[in-house]
Amino acid sequence: MRRPLRPLAALVALSLAPALLVVAPGSAAPLSGAAPGAAPGAVPGVAPGAAAERDPQVPKRATAVGRGGGVTSVDPDATRIGLRILRRGGNAVDAAVATAAALGVTEPYSAGVGGGGFFVYHDARTGRTRTIDGRETAPKAIPRNAFVDPATGEPYPFTPDLVTSGVSVGVPGTPATWTTALERWGTRSLPQVLAPSARLAERGFVVDPTFRSQTDDNRERFAAFTTTRKLFLPGGRLPKVGSRFRNPDLAATYRAFAKDPDLFYRGSVPREISQTVRTPPTTRTTDLPVPRGYLRPGDFRRYEARVQAPTRTRYRGYQVIGMAPSSSGGTTVGEALNILEGYDLGGMSRAQSLHHYLEAGALAFADRGAYVGDGAFVDVPVQDLLSQEFGDERACEIDPAQAAPKPVPAGDVDDYDGDCATPAPRPTSLEDHENVSTTHLTVADRWGNVVAYTLTIEQTGGSGIVVPGRGFLLNNELTDFSLTYDPADPNRLEPGKRPRSSMAPTILLRDGKPFLALGSPGGSTIITTVLQILHNRIDRGMGLPQAVRAPRASPRNNATVSAEPLFLERFETVLEALGHDLVPAGDAFTSAAEIGAATAIELGPNGRLKVVAEPVRRGGGAAAVVKPG
Ligand code: GLU
Repeated sequence: MRRPLRPLAALVALSLAPALLVVAPGSAAPLSGAAPGAAPGAVPGVAPGAAAERDPQVPKRATAVGRGGGVTSVDPDATRIGLRILRRGGNAVDAAVATAAALGVTEPYSAGVGGGGFFVYHDARTGRTRTIDGRETAPKAIPRNAFVDPATGEPYPFTPDLVTSGVSVGVPGTPATWTTALERWGTRSLPQVLAPSARLAERGFVVDPTFRSQTDDNRERFAAFTTTRKLFLPGGRLPKVGSRFRNPDLAATYRAFAKDPDLFYRGSVPREISQTVRTPPTTRTTDLPVPRGYLRPGDFRRYEARVQAPTRTRYRGYQVIGMAPSSSGGTTVGEALNILEGYDLGGMSRAQSLHHYLEAGALAFADRGAYVGDGAFVDVPVQDLLSQEFGDERACEIDPAQAAPKPVPAGDVDDYDGDCATPAPRPTSLEDHENVSTTHLTVADRWGNVVAYTLTIEQTGGSGIVVPGRGFLLNNELTDFSLTYDPADPNRLEPGKRPRSSMAPTILLRDGKPFLALGSPGGSTIITTVLQILHNRIDRGMGLPQAVRAPRASPRNNATVSAEPLFLERFETVLEALGHDLVPAGDAFTSAAEIGAATAIELGPNGRLKVVAEPVRRGGGAAAVVKPG
């Protein structure tokens, strides 16, 4: 089934061009009184008790078709707030930041100003795609053995000890991501995009079963902190489905941020966060160990959201653009696609195409574990990992009749030529966390600008620690580092470094124009969710809603492949006959046997958009377009 190999240079390019300062079109109808591209802080858009919004509610619909721009997220309030910005002439960047700010209110366990994320932006006017790495950084003072319990000499148990701690908190990158995106490519001010979410936090949102069950899953951790207990378990009780959840502290934090774009990096907030992680506000009754952290205000002053070039590869005529390190999303999705490129997956049986998908995922994860870490600290061979020749050589490892024993070793990026020689085995590390934390939103505007943005506080509920009086949870992102120190490990813990991420906001271009933008939550399963949706859509010809809805399996080079119940029902027998060991998805952190909760937008001819949210997983999301029909 394999096609001949193709020349390397023509197929893969990782643009290393310096960041360009570009301003998107989209200033046609500014929000009340604001100049397009106004500097953050210029417009007092966030006023307590501002007039009630009259926006129509966004129904919780998984697919919306139409024109004029669209927003899709996991939450109807967030989608509504993003859509409002588009309706009033804001561009995709403005709407993406506004939607993210709303998710900080309604999805406080998945995302917020206490965390980080990755922002991919395609600018229609210039035809360029730029990205922001808004990942958290480790404190300057963190020791190599920070994750080792001095009492035992072993790493702390991952959960709940390490997860629920000050030691796993990194400098939040989300506030800097928002200000950087707006300054560079937005047309609305920070106060303007934060205003609706400040009001939402003040008035509250209606508690749904997902919010209640996520609170329940975190009950012991949240009860361990006076601040968190007070906000999320008032009176010791879970929020009732249908009740209104208000967060006036967060409303005040957003308003303060609107006035001071540096709020999170200079002055009192860095001091408060540092104090909180160094002396977590534990309750007297908790018996969780809550290891202390090392953050100091200087870590915040040094923080920078990195505007950087994306990863690029080609797949069946599409240009696939993703996040370069510190995320492994772009290299791993791209490499897996290169591995699959040589096969006629559409012409295969469903079982055979899935077999190839599972094997390609495992091979790309082996290389991720061996080579990918924060590019500012380790030399990540991005061009090799994304070279078609390397992918072709890795594809030699796929036996169409039999799954390889897992874990498979990594390939050799110093020695490849696309031929099927046996690679020198290289050590790799394994990945097994698959919590359904994090959130992904996708936005397109009427000018053809597109944003794919994934943001997180890592665990569902992050570190479990709410900053006193501020209304948001701190991340526990540093648990994405390897827990023990090995100098050969690209993801070893180092001061100032960003832990390796799996977030994979991705944009596909066809003939230089955006065709598809997508992403998902789900820890390391993010990579396979994005890969599987692309496989479904491009190789199997599914429509986008079906490609997103289809049951998933997540090959990550472990001995077993986790899969959703419907996937097991349909494919377990045929895939086990090929040697795959499938197990139900879910781990110690997750009560739902689900993988991911994607959102995606497909851009058709004449400005026609198909905007898709997750229909079922995590309670389903909300897709909306400016002009339906
Ligand atoms: N920390 C994860 C990552 O960056 C995302 C959190 C999650 O989805 O579990 O890969």
